[in-house]
Amino acid sequence: MRIARFSIDGNVAFGAVEGQGTVESGDLVLDIIKGIPYADFELSGTKVPLNKVRLLPPVLPNKVVAIGRNYAEHAAELGHEVPEAPITFFKPTTSVIGSGDAIEYPSFSEELHHEAELAVVIGRMCREVPRERVRDVILGYTCANDVTARDVQKREKQWARAKGFDTSCPLGPWVETDVDPHDLTIQATVNGEQRQLGRTSDMVRSIEDLVVHITEAMTLLPGDVILTGTPAGVGPLHVGDEVAVTIEGIGTLTNKVIKRG
Ligand code: MG
Repeated sequence: MRIARFSIDGNVAFGAVEGQGTVESGDLVLDIIKGIPYADFELSGTKVPLNKVRLLPPVLPNKVVAIGRNYAEHAAELGHEVPEAPITFFKPTTSVIGSGDAIEYPSFSEELHHEAELAVVIGRMCREVPRERVRDVILGYTCANDVTARDVQKREKQWARAKGFDTSCPLGPWVETDVDPHDLTIQATVNGEQRQLGRTSDMVRSIEDLVVHITEAMTLLPGDVILTGTPAGVGPLHVGDEVAVTIEGIGTLTNKVIKRG
């Protein structure tokens, strides 16, 4: 099931996405969910065309935990080794935007990069999750763009500003609950031109490894998100660009870059 979060007539709701096509195509319909997707819920049978609502980020995470250098080719393109232990960092909740929202180019950077990533959405509160229980704590998967001020990342020891500025965490367009995430094509295009292309099977640490590693340290809550790292091909974004992250079996996350007003 694809679960979207959206606003309609000033109200926020979740809906199950039905039909084939893209967000823009006009072929998709939302069946509004009674309740929330983290507990038992029912479909209301009340349907609205998806292109008549405003899509919101599919979850409102309490935290976004991100992993650095989890694809060997990407680590190499920036001149790094694959780290011995996963690099973990946070992106703040204020960085999260949905598909169709604008990425605001930060005033303190001159080198903004896209990073297409598979995002894991947590479905239940969990801590110290054993490897064989990882699947039970995951609600589903969505597309993410770990937008990065690369020049700031190189200049500053901690990545809080480089990767945590407002609008630096596009997520969406929805959460897919039924996909096997272990060998999917992941790509980024800018203005329709392909920039990144990889497979999730090339992750150095698997989703299972990452959930075990993170929950060894901290409790994850329903709606929390793990960004699993980006494949090779990261590159610049400029004001006016449209960047799209597509993951096979999940969907396409599209955002425009604007000057911060
Ligand atoms: Mg990243």
